Amino acid sequence: MTSVAAHKFVEIYRPKRECSSETTQTPPVTPVILELMTAPTTLVLHSPVIDELMRALGADAVVTDPDVLESFRHDAAALCESTLPLAAVLPTTESDVRAVMSIASAHRIPVVPQGALTGLAGAANSSAGAIALNTRRMNKIIELDVVNRVAVVQPGVTNKELKDAAREQGLTYLPDPSSWEASTIGGNIATNAGGLCCVKYGVTARFVRGLRVVLADGRATFVGRRTVKGVAGLSLADLFVGSEGTLGIITEATVGLDFPNATPLTMAATFPSTVAAGEAVSRIRAAGITPSLFELLDRTTIAAIDAYARMDFGTDAAAVLIAQSDIGEGAVEELEAIAALCTESGAVDVAVAEDEVESEQLVQARRLAYPALERLGSPLVDDVSVPISQLATMIDEVGRVADRLGIVIGVVGHAGDGNIHPTVIVDPTDPSSLAKAHRAFDEIAAFALSLGGTITGEHGVGLLKRDLLETELDSVAAELQRGIKELLDPHYLLNPGKVLTARP
Ligand SMILES: Cc1cc2nc3c(=O)[nH]c(=O)nc-3n(C[C@H](O)[C@H](O)[C@H](O)COP(=O)(O)OP(=O)(O)OC[C@H]3O[C@@H](n4cnc5c(N)ncnc54)[C@H](O)[C@@H]3O)c2cc1C
Repeated sequence: MTSVAAHKFVEIYRPKRECSSETTQTPPVTPVILELMTAPTTLVLHSPVIDELMRALGADAVVTDPDVLESFRHDAAALCESTLPLAAVLPTTESDVRAVMSIASAHRIPVVPQGALTGLAGAANSSAGAIALNTRRMNKIIELDVVNRVAVVQPGVTNKELKDAAREQGLTYLPDPSSWEASTIGGNIATNAGGLCCVKYGVTARFVRGLRVVLADGRATFVGRRTVKGVAGLSLADLFVGSEGTLGIITEATVGLDFPNATPLTMAATFPSTVAAGEAVSRIRAAGITPSLFELLDRTTIAAIDAYARMDFGTDAAAVLIAQSDIGEGAVEELEAIAALCTESGAVDVAVAEDEVESEQLVQARRLAYPALERLGSPLVDDVSVPISQLATMIDEVGRVADRLGIVIGVVGHAGDGNIHPTVIVDPTDPSSLAKAHRAFDEIAAFALSLGGTITGEHGVGLLKRDLLETELDSVAAELQRGIKELLDPHYLLNPGKVLTARP
């Protein structure tokens, strides 16, 4: 499907970038050649830049066919704006990435780093005239060091592939976003991904030791360390964790491994109100118990799951808490202690699994939340975090926002982190529905901030929350962040228009 026979070339000029032109410094106009293909209806954009990319990486690593480019267009936030990129490149080595950045830098072409495109904030969405740099072919596990408990991997290795490889050595890689089977280590680091077990073990940042990165101008460097400890200078690796592809391209990651925990056991409790569920979360924390998974589903989500898979939580269930213990022998006692605190807080029904099969059945409900909500329309997933003691207040406010705007919002939450995902059901054929969803996002973010929370706990800012970021940052913090961006990427070539807008 790639362009082969060129019959006629017409030189035109690349139009101004239509996406987020107000947010980026417009690169100088570059000549673009319109290649007219044998099939009279097919036009393929071809530019000198593409020739240079093909010479540097090989033609099979550069995609220009519009049909194929569609698959590099956007991440899982399909409702965020996106356009076809100029080309997609599939590097296999750091030298390839350096070559791409040198070419992009010389021509002032924007570059959008991409992993598996499971992101939920539009942070990997392509923009017109950009090169989508996709790491899916950088998928080598370079080293698994059992004694030092570290792995060194290329960024396109999936979370699952690393877990599987570590397991073969009797170790594990703990971070577990629900997208773990597909999402990449590079993407997980660039979003500082959370997951179900981070309530006990922490988010991705805790496991990142060192990174090789390629900067906007094509230079490569190693930041961080390989050792357990290290204070040699500023902690530059932390800057790249969660930077959503705006500071540099991660080409190699050194991450910490651990010994696996015991197979977890699960309990679930049903509550007549979110206040009662919030009370249970507070009591469990006050008792010093840290479950290895601690999730919450609200009334709307429970109803969607009941309709989808007949889980039979009961029509009066306003909230369900699901908790796991992975401490081995004492797990049943730990879950019984959690169950007792749930009952004291007003739970109407509590079930503690006695074996792995029952455990799996209870946790199944959490897994079904997204597909169940998806059946109601197009889900736009929000992601706010509040102090854990404010969880019930936040969830109740989400219900009020839904009622006020006349929309459906289901809430799935990482209860033990205070991180919730209000999921707005959008009718994509109705523009007012999307507008209401954005209004709901604004109101939910403002309320989360008023409770001392943050606009995003784990999905990132991307495009979805770009306009909300500066409601959280004060002007000095925003200035510092722009200063760091401009030091590393003065021409805003890396993922422009995402996260932080350029200075007016
Ligand atoms: C069903 C589902 C469940 C999910 N569950 C969770 C969850 O539990 N927790 C959670 O945190 N997220 C979750 N997510 C969101 C998403 O999976 C994570 O954000 C994930 O880390 C993205 O990884 P990716 O490889 O798909 O990256 P992409 O979506 O391709 O990219 C994400 C960001 O990383 C940047 N990037 C990618 N690779 C590199 C690189 N090598 N160098 C520099 N920047 C790079 C991109 O520019 C973009 O800004 C979920 C998504 C889905 C669809």
